[in-house]
Amino acid sequence: MTNISDAPTRLVLLGHPVSHSLSPIFQNAALKSAGISASYDALDVAPAALDGVLRDLARAGVAGNITIPHKEAVAEACFKRTDLAQRVGAVNTFWHEKGKLIGDNTDVAGARVAIAALINAPPAGGEQRDTKSPLRVTILGAGGAAAALLVALESFAPVAITVWARTRDRARAIAARVNIKVTIANDVNSAVADADLVINSTPIGLTGTDLPVAIAALKQSARILDLIPRAAETEWLRACRAQGHVCEDGMRMLIEQGAASFERWFHIVPDRASMWRSLR
Ligand code: NAP
Repeated sequence: MTNISDAPTRLVLLGHPVSHSLSPIFQNAALKSAGISASYDALDVAPAALDGVLRDLARAGVAGNITIPHKEAVAEACFKRTDLAQRVGAVNTFWHEKGKLIGDNTDVAGARVAIAALINAPPAGGEQRDTKSPLRVTILGAGGAAAALLVALESFAPVAITVWARTRDRARAIAARVNIKVTIANDVNSAVADADLVINSTPIGLTGTDLPVAIAALKQSARILDLIPRAAETEWLRACRAQGHVCEDGMRMLIEQGAASFERWFHIVPDRASMWRSLR
């Protein structure tokens, strides 16, 4: 077994609910592949119990990840946050230094990789994007994932970004955190009409067959990223693919944010192939 001094021997994913999460599967595969003697479990923590659980984890030196609905609350609870976690306003990765809670946000790194893979993928027969004009991106939703997407999109400048969200105040709040111009849309169909890239960061489609936006509203050449990480694609992705759109689901972002978290905890690069294999 690899002996990495000061590395955690127990990792947890804190969320509510959390039992559906794929993180324990691929993180345990990465630990095994690296020969690290540590475990990674999902821990369902109701919001009222979060503070007490964080105190227990600090005493035991446990590190891990944070998911819905705790990312913003943990960002607030941290003794120190990385610049990225500060900018996104949410923490998805934590560890302890001298018993103090440190928070980072690796969703940004995951989103960068997923967006780059999608916009560089070959066209599926539709018109190609004019690479001299800004990349027009529409984000559906304005939660923690959307905040990470906005920070990630700064790396793809020039970009023209539109955010549509049912709670417009949340859209305004995340737009104010970035150094790029963001248009807040009223209507979801017109929000996507000109977009080269449409990203669903709502949970619509996670269960059931609802679509975040009608397929007919999309430009024919639009590329589609659905952040929902699901072994079987969502109804929206299935319908978009059937119409010839180049599509990507949430798995690449999920694996890449997890790989970046693993690097924070152990200071080594995980075996991504073992992570992907574990989810097949
Ligand atoms: P969040 O903070 O709860 O935000 C969710 C957003 O979706 C909010 O804007 C919310 O609007 C909106 N929304 C929820 N239900 C809706 C509905 N029925 N109609 C319209 N809008 C709706 O969640 P999050 O952390 O951003 O996560 C969002 C999604 O991204 C989840 O499915 C999550 O699994 C996925 N995700 C994937 C990855 C990955 O690595 N692949 C990483 C992070 C998140 P209100 O504010 O009005 O409620």
